[in-house]
Amino acid sequence: MASFRPDHPMRICVYCASSQECDPHYHEVAFRLGALLAAGGCSVVYGGGSAGSMGAVANGALSGGGEVIGILPKFMADLEWGHPGLTRLELVEDMRERKHRLLTGSDAVIALPGGCGTLEELFEALTLKRLGLYFNPIILLNTRGFYTPLQSFMEDVIGQRFMNQEHLGMWSLVDAPEDVLPTIQATPRWREDARTIAVVRR
Ligand code: AMP
Repeated sequence: MASFRPDHPMRICVYCASSQECDPHYHEVAFRLGALLAAGGCSVVYGGGSAGSMGAVANGALSGGGEVIGILPKFMADLEWGHPGLTRLELVEDMRERKHRLLTGSDAVIALPGGCGTLEELFEALTLKRLGLYFNPIILLNTRGFYTPLQSFMEDVIGQRFMNQEHLGMWSLVDAPEDVLPTIQATPRWREDARTIAVVRR
């Protein structure tokens, strides 16, 4: 199981949206999640933006006294897209380095509803988990059923034999931010033999 250790605050990677135009409920939920992660003693690492759910999750965690680390490409900092009040804002050269720095060393991944940026980050984490390059929980926060069609799609992907049935175990959907930390804690480390099931079986 993923575990909370007092000497090692969990570092939680949160993938989330920059949109300001989505239903404000998504921002409220993102803020609540941030506050819950801070209350749980977790350190939040995310894309470093101030807009949309990105800004909301950071503000939620900061309001609860939590540590929030943003990883922002320099060109976004130049566009003043960075959050000015983070514990630490790390500037990186490009999007690839940002994705690498977000995931590396994280104890779990949470994906909130989002656009292509969020989905790309989520699918990279899933791909690395399938290949035995990432072993920690991946949680999809299914606010307003946002990820239900993705779940059906992935079941079809598996049904059509592009992935194995076991791969359904790589991620979990949860309905509410209150479910996120308990689900992380209850999720076992991904199987050490991931590579033996990575290829689709006959
Ligand atoms: P999306 O879910 O498509 O909004 O993508 C979120 C990702 O898009 C973030 O992780 C960033 O890589 C990038 N992004 C797009 N617009 C912004 C913005 N205004 N501020 C910060 N990051 C942004």
